[in-house]
Amino acid sequence: MRVGCPKEIKNHEYRVGLTPGSVREYVAHGHEVLVETGAGAGIGADDNAYRAAGAHIAKTAEEVFTRSDMIVKVKEPQPHEWVQLRDSQILYTYLHLAPDPDQTKGLMASGVTAVAYETVTDERGGLPLLAPMSEVAGRLAIQAGATALQKAHGGRGVLLGGVPGVLPGKVAVIGGGVVGLHAARMAAGLGADVSIIDRSIPRLRQLDDIFGGRVHTRYSTVEALEEECFSADLIIGAVLIPGAAAPKLVSREMLSGMKKGAVLVDVAIDQGGCFETSHATTHADPTYEVDGIIHYCVANMPGAVPVTSAHALNNATLHYGLALANRGLKALADEPHLRNGLNIHRGRITNRAVAEALGYEV
Ligand code: NAD
Repeated sequence: MRVGCPKEIKNHEYRVGLTPGSVREYVAHGHEVLVETGAGAGIGADDNAYRAAGAHIAKTAEEVFTRSDMIVKVKEPQPHEWVQLRDSQILYTYLHLAPDPDQTKGLMASGVTAVAYETVTDERGGLPLLAPMSEVAGRLAIQAGATALQKAHGGRGVLLGGVPGVLPGKVAVIGGGVVGLHAARMAAGLGADVSIIDRSIPRLRQLDDIFGGRVHTRYSTVEALEEECFSADLIIGAVLIPGAAAPKLVSREMLSGMKKGAVLVDVAIDQGGCFETSHATTHADPTYEVDGIIHYCVANMPGAVPVTSAHALNNATLHYGLALANRGLKALADEPHLRNGLNIHRGRITNRAVAEALGYEV
């Protein structure tokens, strides 16, 4: 199969779908790999590094889209990318279709077979291709939140760790999955006073074990959310209902009960966000204020640390990427966890949660 990797074009997205290390693996399995010139620049991998790994270099994205049987990317295709896709191709990338009807229609019209990283599953019910980016985003959420909390950035002027004689900042993490765990770990590591709110009691038990009582855990009710949000300096939105739009757990009304200059980091923004007042921002202009509360809602947070993220992502995507390249659509028939990643095939939505979120029949 000819596997193509275009350069990412989303604002401040420096990751790349295939690292030179992954290219070597595809080539070793007998595939031809076509990489757009400069695709790896953001992770310090130049065209020569890709050539050394066995790739051919394409001068344009158009050449990659036209000549490849499978396209491996990072972010969802942008409008002028999805018009270049066709029905004989496999697209393997993050899609996040639930809050994005335009992209969904574009992909359906193209006829492409679209496999979304974020809905591929594993035997423990986890999302193995989302997990590494969630680890990065969770850890980064605390760095971003701590920066936004500084007075010069509009925040309350609180140092999360405090100092001897002064109480630490309070961090509320809504959703204790992968993002929530890694955010809590960073916040606790800085010395903050951390609470995690989740609706899964088994998960709260696990978190309590992991942190040995160092972090408070709370069952997700409106009352618990209000108490935690009203006393927090930094609130991390990290909930997920796989494939579906994020539930709006923090209303605009609730902002009036929060401390002025508190910071909301809505990591769930790529699924529409879990704060009513969230709208997606970019690394170039990451924050805005609503009712005195600072919002940070960057939809591609891991793009800020592309070297770490691209390698972590490739570690996770390589196995199923090779399965698709080796066996084509048969890999989807053979592997139920990979099949759960299939979001669009022959113009139809094939993932139930995505279809329901967008009002389509499966
Ligand atoms: P996860 O499935 O590991 O965890 C989600 C958690 O949310 C689960 O523990 C679940 O029980 C909990 N939850 C669901 N409904 C809840 C509710 N009503 N109240 C409290 N908790 C609730 O998911 P994850 O990997 O941690 O991802 C979280 C979100 O972060 C997703 O939307 C994901 O797409 C997003 N994400 C964003 C970026 C970014 O750059 N912005 C990067 C990575 C992940």
